[in-house]
Amino acid sequence: MVGIRARVLVADVMTRDLVTLSETSTAKEVAIAMSGKSVGSVVITKEGHPSGIITEKDIVERVIARGRDPERTLARDIMSSPVSVIDPRADAMEAARKMAKLGIRRLVVVDKGKMVGIVTSRDILSTAPELMEVLADAAKNRIMPSKRGESLAGFCDNCEEWSESLEEVNGHFLCEVCRNDMEP
Ligand SMILES: [Zn+2]
Repeated sequence: MVGIRARVLVADVMTRDLVTLSETSTAKEVAIAMSGKSVGSVVITKEGHPSGIITEKDIVERVIARGRDPERTLARDIMSSPVSVIDPRADAMEAARKMAKLGIRRLVVVDKGKMVGIVTSRDILSTAPELMEVLADAAKNRIMPSKRGESLAGFCDNCEEWSESLEEVNGHFLCEVCRNDMEP
């Protein structure tokens, strides 16, 4: 447990300039959006919900390094998904723990079903440096979310409905309803 001086909320540290593109945007369009808006990541959406995230590193590793054509490679083929979300009223500490647990560096901030921003480990560190210890674990612990009972947000592989409580079951990300249907 890391001590924290005052309660810092996700809303206090998040970036409100959220750049969103659709799953059918090209890698080139994603790169242009990043450079034009000076952001390190974009959120990919489907039907108004976040379905994935693409970072600068993803463009380098999944497009350039593999020799793929940026004008023919689609966002949905290079994005990381599902995304992990957090409420703007949550503690920055909780966001840091969630990132550490999932081994990721950014969370999409969703307020009552609406995307309102993105919070990165860097945003948290610049405001609450005492959380460094929690975030340092993110580098060491690359653990599959489902194995730690952490749910994610995204589209259910079965019913294709949006859900903020997806969990992996035998390699498929399922919503709560579909998971319950599978119970014997
Ligand atoms: Zn479902």
